[in-house]
Amino acid sequence: MLKPGDTVLGPNLSHGGHLTAGSPVNYSGKLYSVVPYGVRRDTERIDLDEVRDLARRHRPKLVIAGGSAFPRAIDFVPFGQIAREVGAVLMADIAHPAGLVAAGLHPSPVGIADFVTTTTHKTLRGPRGGMVMCGQAHAAALDKTVMPGVQGGPLMHVIAAKAVAFKEALTPEWRAYQRQVVGNARALADALLARGWRLVSGGTDTHLLLVDLSPRGLTGKQAQEALDRAWITVNMNTIPYETRSPMVTSGVRIGTPAVTTRGMKEPEMAAIAALIDRVLTDIDNTAVAAAVRGGVQELTARFPLYEARRR
Ligand SMILES: *Cc1c(COP(=O)(O)O)cnc(C)c1O
Repeated sequence: MLKPGDTVLGPNLSHGGHLTAGSPVNYSGKLYSVVPYGVRRDTERIDLDEVRDLARRHRPKLVIAGGSAFPRAIDFVPFGQIAREVGAVLMADIAHPAGLVAAGLHPSPVGIADFVTTTTHKTLRGPRGGMVMCGQAHAAALDKTVMPGVQGGPLMHVIAAKAVAFKEALTPEWRAYQRQVVGNARALADALLARGWRLVSGGTDTHLLLVDLSPRGLTGKQAQEALDRAWITVNMNTIPYETRSPMVTSGVRIGTPAVTTRGMKEPEMAAIAALIDRVLTDIDNTAVAAAVRGGVQELTARFPLYEARRR
């Protein structure tokens, strides 16, 4: 759809976007002329008025909706209207919420966006890989861009694993799993809020939350490293209107798909919030880290990864 130098309107990386949506350090930002849009300072939700204004002003060839650190659902309908108004193609990148979309728990871009892209390894819970979907109108162009455009030999074992993941996604058990992922994220958000932590946008509609550590005088790097020492894995992440470098950041991003796969539910989310709170309230205390490691071991032992270990 694009030639090098064409204008793309995409989500700002530090507001929740992804490197591949036009970050200047990524090929997407080097090849194309990218205009970033962000979230509002007050609501920390996507500013559709800004998206519309920028689209009218810059007339992009492509509009991208979707990111990797948006705790809130994205409504693709207004994006479709904006793209159509300026004659742009709309690409919805649902890499993160694809599993929720498939389970009907997040708005779907299918039938609205010209292209829908996703990974297969995030909420879809399949192998590491990707997928691009489009309607008949763009099918020939897409096929040609994939081969001979970018792809060499396909990885057949990964294709087989994708098929397994998609078959799982058709089952009622998988939908129940996705509902629990969202319920767990909400429970974890509520428990952290109750302990006085600030969440970007005040909560979550999805599988992830973004904690703003700045009111507590911590950086994302400090929090990630302290939680690592306590065997709790999160990643530092920039927050909207970030003032620190991406190597330090003011936030951490936490997701529930993995713990939900182990069978954990709302009570365990409250327990996890308590463990996180204990570490972050006293980040240099090695005795606290050791005690929390014990709590993590106790919790994970009750939810083994493999059924076989119970027999
Ligand atoms: C994860 C993600 C991708 C793909 O990145 P990988 O490094 O291949 O996992 C693309 N777009 C968005 C919005 C993502 O969150």
